[in-house]
Amino acid sequence: MSSIDTKLVQHIRTPFFYYNMDLLSETIQKVKTESEKYGFVVHYALKANSNPKILKLISDNGFGADCVSGNEVLKAIENGYDPDKIVYAGVGKSDWEINIALDHNIYCFNCESVPELNVINDLASAKNKVAQVALRINPNINVQTHHYITTGIEENKFGINMWELYELIELIVKLKNIKLIGLHFHIGSQIRDLMSFKNLCLRINEIQKWFINQNIDIEEINVGGGLGINYEKPWAEPIPDFSNYFALFDSLLELLPGQKVHFELGRSMVGQCGSLITKVLYVKKGVNIDFAIVDGGMTELIRPALYQAYHNIENLTSKLPKKKYDVVGPICESADYFGKSVDLPETNRGDFIEIQSCGAYGEVMASTYNSRNLVKAYYSNEIK
Ligand SMILES: *Cc1c(COP(=O)(O)O)cnc(C)c1O
Repeated sequence: MSSIDTKLVQHIRTPFFYYNMDLLSETIQKVKTESEKYGFVVHYALKANSNPKILKLISDNGFGADCVSGNEVLKAIENGYDPDKIVYAGVGKSDWEINIALDHNIYCFNCESVPELNVINDLASAKNKVAQVALRINPNINVQTHHYITTGIEENKFGINMWELYELIELIVKLKNIKLIGLHFHIGSQIRDLMSFKNLCLRINEIQKWFINQNIDIEEINVGGGLGINYEKPWAEPIPDFSNYFALFDSLLELLPGQKVHFELGRSMVGQCGSLITKVLYVKKGVNIDFAIVDGGMTELIRPALYQAYHNIENLTSKLPKKKYDVVGPICESADYFGKSVDLPETNRGDFIEIQSCGAYGEVMASTYNSRNLVKAYYSNEIK
């Protein structure tokens, strides 16, 4: 979201990421008040943005961490997250990564397969420890989002399928260095339709009943993350509707006495607070539409190239009448674009362009392809 004063950033070399820390604070406060109403536990999904300043602001507010690699576990701890509030998911945890998590006594491994359970048990046994685990169950729910970011249908690599459960629970009682504490779900990302979460709740209730019938005690339910943000009109919805989101889980989940509900939110907590600021290098004539060629590219923000994602784009400097442009980067790939047929005030060399809603899955996915430099981040509370 734009809060940026172009005069203040004129001297900064472009492209760069700009974070609106006031908006981030407000968003975090909202997550906190809305989740605490129901006693929900929220873990921030580090993979959305693992910038230390952002990680610290979130950990200072008492949130837990959701990690998907050994280095993320270490990063979470370095940035103030309590190991007792760290959960660790991922289909391919290496032995050294599991060992890191065991050494730091993290709260819970979200296990994604039968062989993984065996490995965690062996490694925990070697350290004379008992690892707490939740089973990541694939609830076979399809959601309306880009197919690269659905995770909860059977053909995805994620989670344990329902038909594997009989075998699994027979195994789990034999594994002495594992303690099953919960069930974990995560159905995908950028989910804007709350119906998908409603379906998830109903499936969780069915699955819980199955476990109760097997006389297996489940202390907690982790419903994952995935709440989407408004990329089309970020100004209209700078903070996602956490109020209805948490209320839905509260009203639909049938919990056992004392059962705790955990969430793993990434995008919805940080997505709207970041922008990519880039400068126009050239305006080039095209056949039907002109190109605004900017100095930022897919190396800084890969979402349009990878997911055909839409980002709102503003020209921060021009006040001229509007025209249409394809806004493209300098990388040697046709997929290197930020927007097609974008309405912008007439754009010229040197104009500042803001690509909005880049706080999640932006800077963390940056690469050095074409031997480019990784770009810097600036924070609203430091350049005022
Ligand atoms: C990525 C991920 C999340 C966070 O997803 P968002 O869509 O950013 O909220 C949560 N849990 C798991 C297991 C993940 O892989």
